Amino acid sequence: MTYIDNVLARLKEKNPGETEFIQAATEILQSLKPVVEKHPEYEKAALLERFTEPERTIMFRVPWTDDNGRVHVNKGYRVEFNSAIGPYKGGLRFHPSVNLSVIKFLGLEQILKNSLTGLPIGGGKGGSDFDPKGKSDREVMAFCQSFMTELYRHIGADTDVPAGDIGVGGREIGYLYGQYKRIANEFTGVLTGRGLSYGGSLIRKEATGYGLVYIVEEAMKWRNDSFEGKTVIVSGSGNVAIYACEKAQQLGAKVVAMYDSNGYIYDKNGIDVDVVRQIKEVERGRIKEYADRVKGAEYSEGCNGIWSIPCDVALPCATQNEIDKESAELLVKNGVRYVAEGANMPSTLEAIDVFKRAKTVYLPAKAANAGGVATSALEMAQASGRMFWSAEKVDKKLKEIMVNIFRNIDAAANRYGCDDDYVVGANIAGFEKVADAMMSQGIV
Ligand code: NDP
Repeated sequence: MTYIDNVLARLKEKNPGETEFIQAATEILQSLKPVVEKHPEYEKAALLERFTEPERTIMFRVPWTDDNGRVHVNKGYRVEFNSAIGPYKGGLRFHPSVNLSVIKFLGLEQILKNSLTGLPIGGGKGGSDFDPKGKSDREVMAFCQSFMTELYRHIGADTDVPAGDIGVGGREIGYLYGQYKRIANEFTGVLTGRGLSYGGSLIRKEATGYGLVYIVEEAMKWRNDSFEGKTVIVSGSGNVAIYACEKAQQLGAKVVAMYDSNGYIYDKNGIDVDVVRQIKEVERGRIKEYADRVKGAEYSEGCNGIWSIPCDVALPCATQNEIDKESAELLVKNGVRYVAEGANMPSTLEAIDVFKRAKTVYLPAKAANAGGVATSALEMAQASGRMFWSAEKVDKKLKEIMVNIFRNIDAAANRYGCDDDYVVGANIAGFEKVADAMMSQGIV
């Protein structure tokens, strides 16, 4: 048994039932094989055991009262996974599917993603099984205040800096920040994704979706290709999906389908992103309404059918494991050439295998969606310097970061003889810096 096999076997034994966490750890560790073979000192220092064990796991109850006076109790989590290269950084997810396994998989991925940005940020993630959908603003505020009343003692601008994720957008960040400020009595950059009137950064809202399209654009450039005239599918219709759709269309592509957790819309003329934004961001409605408002658009119940629509580029931007083996096979059969992940771990291990065998250009989440956290780090820099940068400046930096990520993961893959395997490239390029920092800092 190799060192990696050993670590994985023990990880499964010690974390029973944590399927998402084990899935992510398996994908990462298996692709680190060539690096680990080159560095026998890692085993002696139990580096992989430490890398896969969070530095700190905080779990707490979150009691809150609904509009009818009924008391509810949710679970709250913050996993401070790795601070070798900077303060813990990673989003908060509010969704009924949240559990410790989901937060740990996201936290582990976040370590490498943050390293890939080239910025000094460690990895963390948090959230709750609370569902903001269908709740009044007052209920969401009551929940956020209760959540922060416990979380505030663990975070700080130089310690741990949370941001948004599924179910945590501008409204939630505002309530969380207000409560933090009130308890801690300080105005610092302790959360990112803040509103522009209280320390947020221009382009942060757009950053993950824009960044996703920028990295695909770079991968296309290397193949003398471009977005011009391409047919694109974007799954999801939240923050990442909306801005991926917007940027892809700006670059000349036609996005023909999007979904939410109930069903998908197909618009052969190209999605009108302003209508989606109005429905999802302003009215907090359902994507179904798009078909009522836009002539020629069709709505189908259920999500999976979206992957049977022929496309050149697939951008999964909703949630984990949304593309399984069958969906991947359908995409490949219909001629998909690029798959880039806006969501975290949207493809199952079997689906990734299908893309690899078909030689689809496949850009994994930790590289492809790193634009969000990179811009969060730019927000931290602006906050600590008490200054604001223009949208043009932030967008330019975001683009540079995404281009650099592409070059680095491509170079790492080539260095280890795995040309065009961006899974290996992203894991190795992200890991090398973290491993080096951990080795330098001793057994901690
Ligand atoms: P949002 O909450 O804004 O949007 C999520 C979207 O995905 C919604 O359309 C939602 O539908 C849909 N969705 C959620 N769960 C499911 C499901 N089980 N089946 C089908 N659709 C689902 O989240 P974000 O856009 O912020 O995040 C999307 C993904 O991107 C996540 O994986 C997140 O971790 C990742 N990400 C986000 C970053 C950011 O900056 N926001 C940064 C990096 C990664 P519905 O409206 O019905 O709930």
